[in-house]
Amino acid sequence: MPDCIFCRIVHAQLPAARVLETPGVLAFLDIAPVNYGHTLVIPKVHYPNLLELPDELWTEMGQVSRRVAQALRAALYAQGFNIGMNNFEAAGQVVFHAHIHVIPRYFSDGLKLFPQESYKPGDLEKTAAQLRQVL
Ligand code: AMP
Ligand code: ZN
Repeated sequence: MPDCIFCRIVHAQLPAARVLETPGVLAFLDIAPVNYGHTLVIPKVHYPNLLELPDELWTEMGQVSRRVAQALRAALYAQGFNIGMNNFEAAGQVVFHAHIHVIPRYFSDGLKLFPQESYKPGDLEKTAAQLRQVL
């Protein structure tokens, strides 16, 4: 087993506020929440990021994330929720055990989404073509 805090949580070597467990997936509260109820959904087996995850586990993580989101609305009266995943250091990933963030949202929470920019002339189609070439 790699030296990984989320693996330790899976194996009950570290405490966590668990909210849901399915055969392949565990969901527990983030210790430093954006809002109360902010939940992390992880595979029980260690995979570092989304690109390494088997499809079945990614599907199970999606199912659990949706159940958690429903619970946030039902139990904590979330008015909305964000689903997010940081992959690789450049995107802000700090724990290199794949995890989905499910974050309850409220009109009053004052959070802003990512800042957005605009394409220079011609770059929109050029960028789409670059992606199509490898898809
Ligand atoms: P990321 O930047 O996507 O890798 O986020 C890692 C998340 O894990 C952060 O939001 C941390 O607050 C959270 N975290 C780190 N250690 C623990 C822990 N022991 N229990 C619960 N959440 C944790
Ligand atoms: Zn791990």
